[in-house]
Amino acid sequence: MKSLCHRNKPRNDWGHNMKRIIFATSNEGKMKEIRDILKGMDIELLSLKDAGIDIDIIEDGTTFEENAIIKAETVCKLTGEIVLADDSGLEVDYLDKAPGIYSARFLGEDTPYSEKNSYIIDKLKGIPNDKRSARFVSVIACSFPDGHIITRTGILEGFIAERISGSNGFGYDPIFYVPEYNCTTADMPTSELKNQISHRAKALKAIKEVLIEHLSH
Ligand code: IMP
Repeated sequence: MKSLCHRNKPRNDWGHNMKRIIFATSNEGKMKEIRDILKGMDIELLSLKDAGIDIDIIEDGTTFEENAIIKAETVCKLTGEIVLADDSGLEVDYLDKAPGIYSARFLGEDTPYSEKNSYIIDKLKGIPNDKRSARFVSVIACSFPDGHIITRTGILEGFIAERISGSNGFGYDPIFYVPEYNCTTADMPTSELKNQISHRAKALKAIKEVLIEHLSH
């Protein structure tokens, strides 16, 4: 950890200090998604960078849930603030739920997704549709300074496409086919549609309920 910045706490329209909530990510895309979903709430939402935190957290859990908790709890203990953290990935049933929690590290962290995606497509070559099921999973953990932790899970079910398709999104989007929309998540015309139906959006909406409940006490 390099530094923690100490800033005046912003106040809401009634002059009260706003609750600070840190989302333990350095990913600006995720911050935008969570700001959109939590907008209207009487909170100050900070990324790790906004909070002046520079930390490498070892994600050595064996499930999405454990990894999300490790991240949220570590930053919560460090700051004394309410902290949210997420962990997500792709589960392919035919590959025994791989890459799962290793989604980012699959075939090597620096391997381009064009290669990771081609590898999965090749592995499933000739496999019938009913055996191509897959899902994106997102678990968000919320760690409170009093030590209690709540998690919520969001899932987007789909299938591994027969070929790579689409240039929107990121990661495994070009091979993740959603039958309801007859396209991959990378074919979805705007990120808005994906952000409405995504695993992360579902988990974020569920955690919003938790925060609303907590802040009302
Ligand atoms: P993390 O939650 O940032 O650790 O994400 C783990 C990895 O899961 C990402 O690097 C992607 O490989 C994959 N992943 C998670 N969500 C998505 C998604 O919405 N589209 C495509 N890939 C995803």
